[in-house]
Amino acid sequence: MYNPKSHKAEEFICHEEVLDTLSYAEQNKNNVELIDKILEKAKLGKGLSHREAAVLLDCEDAEKNKEIFELAEKIKKDYYGNRIVLFAPLYLSNYCVNGCVYCPYHAKNKTIPRRKLTQEEIKKEVMALQDMGHKRLAIEAGEDPVNNPIEYILESIKTIYSVKHKNGDIRRVNVNIAATSVENYRKLHEAGIGTYVLFQETYNKETYEILHPTGPKHNYAYHTEAMDRAMEAGIDDVSLGVLFGLELYRYEFAALLMHAEHLEAAFGVGPHAISVPRLRKADDINPEEFDNGIDDDTFAKIVACIRIAVPYTGMIVSTRESEECRKKLLHLGVSQMSGGSKTSVGGYFNPMPEDEDSAQFDISDRRPLDEVIKWLMELGYLPSFCTACYRHGRTGERFMEICKQQQIHNFCHPNAIITLKEYLEDYASDETKKVGAALLLREIETLQDEKIKQIVKDDLQKIEHGERDFRF
Ligand code: SAM
Repeated sequence: MYNPKSHKAEEFICHEEVLDTLSYAEQNKNNVELIDKILEKAKLGKGLSHREAAVLLDCEDAEKNKEIFELAEKIKKDYYGNRIVLFAPLYLSNYCVNGCVYCPYHAKNKTIPRRKLTQEEIKKEVMALQDMGHKRLAIEAGEDPVNNPIEYILESIKTIYSVKHKNGDIRRVNVNIAATSVENYRKLHEAGIGTYVLFQETYNKETYEILHPTGPKHNYAYHTEAMDRAMEAGIDDVSLGVLFGLELYRYEFAALLMHAEHLEAAFGVGPHAISVPRLRKADDINPEEFDNGIDDDTFAKIVACIRIAVPYTGMIVSTRESEECRKKLLHLGVSQMSGGSKTSVGGYFNPMPEDEDSAQFDISDRRPLDEVIKWLMELGYLPSFCTACYRHGRTGERFMEICKQQQIHNFCHPNAIITLKEYLEDYASDETKKVGAALLLREIETLQDEKIKQIVKDDLQKIEHGERDFRF
C-alpha cells in the first residue's frame, strides 16, 4: 500500500503507485486541459505532486512543452537568481566490497588500481583544492568496512576542516558514502558535515537487486531507507539522485519525486538537493551495454520538470556532462555544479597519468575551475562559493521556511558576491579577474536593501585589504 508517511521503502516508493502514475501520465500526455491546469498550479511556485509532474514529463504537445521549459526558467530565476554554487568531489578511497555492475569500483574488478588516501595525502589534496579556490567539497568513497570504516571517514573530515593553506579554507564538507546506520549518521552529523548525499541508483526494486548482485548495497530497503536514518540522526540536509541510464527514466522520475514527498511528509523537510548523474564510460564499464540511456533533450526535459515540481530543492550537475550540456541545464534549473573535478583517488595534488586509472568515471567537462568561473560569468551567472547557510544553522526545516518566504535572496545574493570577491582576489587569472570585477559592480547594484548593499560594499573593501570570511 502506498503511504508517503511510512518509513518502509516499499510503502513510500510503492511500485504499484509508480506504475499507476506512469499510466496516468501516458493517458494524459496530450490532455491539454489538464496540462494547463497543472501549469497554472506550478506557476504558484509551490511545486507539484509526482503524478502532476509525470504528466508534464510525458507531455507531447510542442506548444505546452515550450511553456514547460519557459516556466522552469522562470522558477529558476525567481528562486535562485543567477547564482551557481561551485563544489568539487574529493575521492578518498576506491576500495569497495559491493558488486554494482555499472561502477568500476565493484569488488570483482581486479585491474583497477585500488587506492586509499592517508591523512597526509588528504592534506595535500585539500591544499590543491584550496589553491584552485574551492570552499565546498563532496567526499566520495567506496563501501569497505575494513579499508574505509566510519572512523576513517570521520578522521578525514577532521583533516579536511583543519587545513588552512594561504587564504584557503574548506568550509563545508558534504559526504557521499554508502548507506549506513543511525549511529554512524549521528557521528557524521557531529563531525559537522553539510549535506549527506546518497544516490538511489534506481528506485525499481527488481532492477536494483539485479544491478547490485552482491555486497551490503544489495539490500534495497536498507539503501532506500537511508535518508530516514540520516534524518533520524539529525542530518536534515540530504541530497537525492538516481543514476540515469540504469532504468526507464519515467519510472525513476516519478519515484524520485515520491521520495522527496516522503521526506516532506515524514520529517517536514524535503531534500536539500537532487543530483542528476548520467551513466558514463569507466574502466571496465561500457554504458552502451545498458539499455536505458537518455538523450540530451530528454535529459533537459527531466531537469525542467524537476525544477517545476520541487522549486525549493537545489539541483546539481557534475562534470559527467559536457560544457554544452551543462550550459543548457543551467537555464532550466541547475543551481550547483562541480568544477575542475578529478574522479580519481589522489587526482588533485601532483596527478600522475596512472592516477587516472583509478577514476570512477570519465569526465566530460575537463576545464580548470578558473575557466569554468569565467565562462559562467560571461554567460551572466554569478558563481558562488557560499557556505553560510549551514554555518548559521539555516538547514533543514529552517532553510525551507526561509526559501518558502522567498527570503533566501537576502542571504544568498550578498554571500555569492562576497565569496566571488574572495575567489577573484586569491585565485583568479587576470582575465577572469577583469570579467569578475565588472560583474561584481553590476551585481551590487541589484541588491535592493540599502543597508545590505552598504555592508557588502564595506566587506568587499575589507577583502581587498586581506580580511576573509564575511557572511550573512
Ligand atoms: N559508494 C557510495 C554508495 O554506495 O552510494 C557512493 C560513492 S560513489 C563514489 C558515487 C556515485 O557515483 C554512485 O552513487 C553512482 O551513482 C555514481 N557512479 C558509479 N558508477 C558510475 C558510472 N559509471 N558513471 C557515472 N556515475 C557513476
